[in-house]
Amino acid sequence: MNDENNRKIFIIKPQEYKYENFEPLLAQIEDHFHRILSSLKISTPSGKTTNLKLTVDVFNPEKISACAWRVTKDPAAYEIRMNAGLTYYLWTASRTFAIPEYDILPWLEECKINDERLKKLSRKEVLADYAFFVGCYYVLLHEISHVVLGHLDYLNDEMRLDHLSEFQDEKEQYSLSEIRIRKALEAEADRQAGELMMIFYGNSLGVNGLGGYFLFPSRLHAYEFYVYAIAAVFSRAISF
Ligand SMILES: [Zn+2]
Repeated sequence: MNDENNRKIFIIKPQEYKYENFEPLLAQIEDHFHRILSSLKISTPSGKTTNLKLTVDVFNPEKISACAWRVTKDPAAYEIRMNAGLTYYLWTASRTFAIPEYDILPWLEECKINDERLKKLSRKEVLADYAFFVGCYYVLLHEISHVVLGHLDYLNDEMRLDHLSEFQDEKEQYSLSEIRIRKALEAEADRQAGELMMIFYGNSLGVNGLGGYFLFPSRLHAYEFYVYAIAAVFSRAISF
């Protein structure tokens, strides 16, 4: 396999992985999501504290969907629902880091696994899981950004849309101006999620800035990995 072919794996689901390999991770994802929610004080643009409910729908894993909506205006209550299919696709993107014959990060041997429970895994496998959680956090922070930036309120109050669906729903028809507004909201949520994600990632690196259970040789290496992990999320997004 030459380099050109290897690169294609980056945007195509690695065929050697199956949903059954991923399923045991679903419970961990919910734990991580609740950790995110408990560490953020989420309010609307007008400063109202929100009641935010998050669910991961484990049914229909063959479908890829994420959806957010306002449940009630007052008190401000919102709900975000991601399905297992979306998290599975993020997981397949993260497996790029685990491909034995493809060295994305040539300095990987200089990294150290700092947790006895993970010692049976290769550095590539540990890093692939790290990339998966970076991807999941980013997607969830994108959804939370739609709440804090007032997008869901705008869709309800100004556009008469009762929910925001992240992926094209064939049943819904939008006008050209609605499509333009939706694209602007998506770009803004991406930017906000990027800012929040940098804080979460920085915290995950601990006080020395080099990592906790996985130690990078330097901060530069830690952030190089971060750039690739986020790129993997978007490589999945363009292949949906
Ligand atoms: Zn969005």
